[in-house]
Amino acid sequence: MDMTERLATERRKRLAAERLLDQKSRELFEANRRLSQHALTLSDEIIETRQTAEDLRGQNTQVLSELAEVSLEADVAKQRLWDSLETVKDGFALFDAQNRLVIANRAYLSVFDGLEAVVPGIRYDEIVRLSVEEGIVDIGARAASDWIEEFLTRWHQNPVPTRVVRLWSGDYIKLVDRRTPSGDMVCLSMNITDMMRMWAAVEAIPDGFVLYDHDDRLVMCNDRYRDFYADSAPIMKPGNSFEEILRYGLGNGQYPEALGREEDWLTERMNRHQRPEGMIEQRLPDGRWLRILEERTPDGGLVGLRVDITEQKRQQMALDRARVAAEAANRAKSAFLANMSHELRTPMNGVVGMAELLCETELSEEQRLYAHTIRESGEALLSLLNDVLDYSKIEADKLQLHPEPFDLERTIYEIVMLLQAPARDKNLDVLIDYDLFLPTRFVGDRGRIRQIFTNLVGNAIKFTERGHVLVRVVGFEAEEGALQQINVTVEDTGIGISRDMQDHIFGEFNQVEDQQNRKFEGTGLGLAITRRLIGMMGGEIWLESEKGEGACFGFSLTLPVAEEREPLPAPETASVRHVLVVDDQEVNRTILERQLSQLGLEVTCHVTAETALGVADSTDLVITDHRMPGMDGFTFARELRRSGYSGPILMLTSNPACLGKTGRNSESGIDLVLQKPVLRRALYEAISTLAPSVQAGSVAAAGPGPASPRRPMRVLAAEDNRTNRLVLGKMVEGLNVDMRFADNGNEAVAAFREVRPDLIFMDISMPECDGKEATGAIRRIERETAALPVPIVALTAHALQGDAEDILAAGLDACLTKPLRKSDILAAIEAHHPADCAPLDPAASVAGDTAETLPRLRAI
Ligand code: ADP
Repeated sequence: MDMTERLATERRKRLAAERLLDQKSRELFEANRRLSQHALTLSDEIIETRQTAEDLRGQNTQVLSELAEVSLEADVAKQRLWDSLETVKDGFALFDAQNRLVIANRAYLSVFDGLEAVVPGIRYDEIVRLSVEEGIVDIGARAASDWIEEFLTRWHQNPVPTRVVRLWSGDYIKLVDRRTPSGDMVCLSMNITDMMRMWAAVEAIPDGFVLYDHDDRLVMCNDRYRDFYADSAPIMKPGNSFEEILRYGLGNGQYPEALGREEDWLTERMNRHQRPEGMIEQRLPDGRWLRILEERTPDGGLVGLRVDITEQKRQQMALDRARVAAEAANRAKSAFLANMSHELRTPMNGVVGMAELLCETELSEEQRLYAHTIRESGEALLSLLNDVLDYSKIEADKLQLHPEPFDLERTIYEIVMLLQAPARDKNLDVLIDYDLFLPTRFVGDRGRIRQIFTNLVGNAIKFTERGHVLVRVVGFEAEEGALQQINVTVEDTGIGISRDMQDHIFGEFNQVEDQQNRKFEGTGLGLAITRRLIGMMGGEIWLESEKGEGACFGFSLTLPVAEEREPLPAPETASVRHVLVVDDQEVNRTILERQLSQLGLEVTCHVTAETALGVADSTDLVITDHRMPGMDGFTFARELRRSGYSGPILMLTSNPACLGKTGRNSESGIDLVLQKPVLRRALYEAISTLAPSVQAGSVAAAGPGPASPRRPMRVLAAEDNRTNRLVLGKMVEGLNVDMRFADNGNEAVAAFREVRPDLIFMDISMPECDGKEATGAIRRIERETAALPVPIVALTAHALQGDAEDILAAGLDACLTKPLRKSDILAAIEAHHPADCAPLDPAASVAGDTAETLPRLRAI
């Protein structure tokens, strides 16, 4: 290569190098520019960073000071916490991972009072050993080493089981220990002595005790509870629900009663558990019986008791068996009594009935005495029989009441009349004061009310020698018209009853046992029966008496008022305005005055006939008593007539022998004699009869009008027993009655078709067709022929309750129990005597006739 070329190449290279240099210088410049720019930014940032650093330093100082504050607060809090721990009465301690005591509060340490070794740093096992050796804990009969070992083993368990220890002081401490993640042990010890006492008490009670919380989870139960439900015991742990426990028990045959219906049983039991009320009984599989009592607690939980009633149950079952046996025996007794009563009554019928008839025949004095004795002994025996039977029925709850409409006033009157004989023998006045404004017809068991009156009035007459017996009846409306409360008192002037005996005599077979009393016969059952009967009717009985001062028995009953069948006839008193009443007895005067005033009559009362003589002329009617001190009723009447008194004279007497001595033409001049006590109705009828008689200027008797050609009453008696037929026939002898007999039911039905009687007496047990069947047939005939039903009265020897019910259900109207009493037969005849028949008393139409049949009939 030449030089030029080399120069050119050199030049080219130089130029290229110059260009490269130039470019690099530009790049360098650019880089420098950027660098200086970056340096600028950097310096800003540095300044900023420096500022930030400054700020941070400032903040740091604040944080540090806050930290210092916080740590101070923490120290205060720690101190507070510790102070608090010192004040709580539960023990608190902390052990480190090496089981050394770090810290413990006073309560924890107080247990080791006086043991200097128990201070921070001591090992746990040391504490346990010291507790045993120093006698702080009560380890019971166990060996110290065992106890310590068991305690230390527990310490190393995870979690550490809760444990209760008993101290020698008797206190109970519950230990709850928990290990922290760092290995420390936090220990709590609580004094649960009070709770343990309560728990010991709950354990000591003989009953099972259980407590569930408001979620129905078991809180606690005692061992007795677990023992009762041994098959469910494994699941009886706090926290388990009632349902879980039940289900577990069901699966293990805990509840025999649930066998085969487990789910239903469970539902029922759960329902009861949710809404516990009252108690239930439960049988356990081992045969024991529990009574379950459950109650809700105020916090919605449930507390339950299980009482073992096995012994009670056993006794109850034994009692039940005994009761069933006793009831069977009682039924047998009742049946026996019914049969005996039947057997005894049948022959008694002959004895009493025939003796009664015998007494009415002509007899020598001696014979009369014998016949009387037979009759009275028979009656006494019969009343004894009735009392015993009644009492047995009440005892056996067999006695039932049969309410029906009846006339109370009339019933009392009838009873008093029946009891007249013994009263008359003692010259006693038996009076009735029946409240004027009280209705007379009520609905009640007439027979039983009769029995009550008979007992009380009978006793009053029995225990009174002088004076009077007064039956007073008052009443007031218990409910608007429908019910009346009736208060009855039976007052006498007899021997009275001392206060200490007043409860006694209402007991069975109880009587006053003193000399004065025991001359009287009786069973001592009357008042016991009376009280029971009154009780059955919802009433009560009481007694007011002093020894020697008479007695007053009272009772009250509330009875429905029955429709008044026939209202009391308002007497025709046009010709009577002023009545003179002469009676030495004040009660009598008062009663009469009230009864007469009610008719609007003026009444003048006089105690003696002598003083009354002067005033009679100014009156239109004289009512005089028979027996009075000084001038008696007959003499008074004679004296009145002699003095020219022409008005009617009515005499009231207790002596039926005077009853026939009526008639103006008779020697005494008395127009009418009525037997005391006088039924209001009878008194009013008598006044009506006597008032027009004055106007007519003639004399009329109290009986029905003059003789008429009317037919006699027809009575049919179906009776298979010849003696009874004889007795019945004799009883109606002398009455204007056409009596026909049938030997059995069939004959009775045939006779009914033929004669259409006004009344039928129907024996119940008869051969072929008995009384009930015959009645059924008669009632059918009546229905077919549209005839009015004839009254049929059953005659039966059966005295038990069911019998009377059956009889009435068979269509009979009433029931008479044998032996037949003349008074009952006559009462039945009189009660059903049709108005259009001839009077029962054949002599009734003969004015002034002294036949005694009618008065006797009236006396029923
Ligand atoms: P009973 O009259 O058959 O002895 P009660 O039960 O009727 O039996 O009467 C019991 C007793 O009460 C009588 O025995 C008598 O001692 C006494 N007692 C009852 N009523 C009266 C009375 N009105 N006056 C006196 N004592 C009476």
